[in-house]
Amino acid sequence: MNERPGAKSSLGRTADELKRILQQGQPLCSVCLFAHAALLRYVESLFYERVNDVGTRAELRKSGGFCRFHAQAISNHADALGSAIILEDLIKQVVRGIEKGKFVAETSSNPLLRLFDDRRNDVYTPVCVICLKEKELEELAVHTLCQALVNVDFKERFERSSGLCIPHFRLAARHHRESPGWTIVVAAEEKALRDLARRLDELAKSYDYRSTKDLEPDAVRSWREALNITSSWLPDDSGFGAGSSVGSKSEND
Ligand SMILES: [Zn+2]
Ligand SMILES: [Zn+2]
Repeated sequence: MNERPGAKSSLGRTADELKRILQQGQPLCSVCLFAHAALLRYVESLFYERVNDVGTRAELRKSGGFCRFHAQAISNHADALGSAIILEDLIKQVVRGIEKGKFVAETSSNPLLRLFDDRRNDVYTPVCVICLKEKELEELAVHTLCQALVNVDFKERFERSSGLCIPHFRLAARHHRESPGWTIVVAAEEKALRDLARRLDELAKSYDYRSTKDLEPDAVRSWREALNITSSWLPDDSGFGAGSSVGSKSEND
């Protein structure tokens, strides 16, 4: 499946995008970067194109809104009109709930009756639609990556990368241990984690007053890379924040 230069890719859209991300050579998890860039496009379409779509509005009402983390992302996205329409809808939903008595004081002391009380059903536990989308995108990216590793070009790029963040490595381990690319994922992950641990050690040792060694830039930035690798965190310039490069189509093309 190795590709000749200029040959039309046989990988598919998601794998092609993952390959482009790997080629950019950022010292961050490629699944994190893929999911983040795709989420940017999702939020864009949610606020610009689908804001008045009946199905989308119903989906948003059912979700009850956005989690705190993604509220920050929406704030950074700064679409006042789209936000006003969507958030007004969510707020009115709660007002309707109040009107219908969904928030009245308990009338029964029986916890089982309280559990099955219809009036309470939409009072609790909203699930953020962006969180749900993010999960779907991460699963798609992990699945695609494990499959695409049979492609020699893709494999070589992945082997030169920083591997996966640990949450995405665990996700891949849960669902794709039987995939043809799994041994490649594990080998690349071990190599990347050992290298990162070595650089973190160098960084920590540099704070010793007896240390005279100049730190390499990859050791200086290692603690930020480690935040991505352990927590799927991405720096501001890789996502919803101002100056985003990953979400920019032109950067990826
Ligand atoms: Zn990741
Ligand atoms: Zn969320």
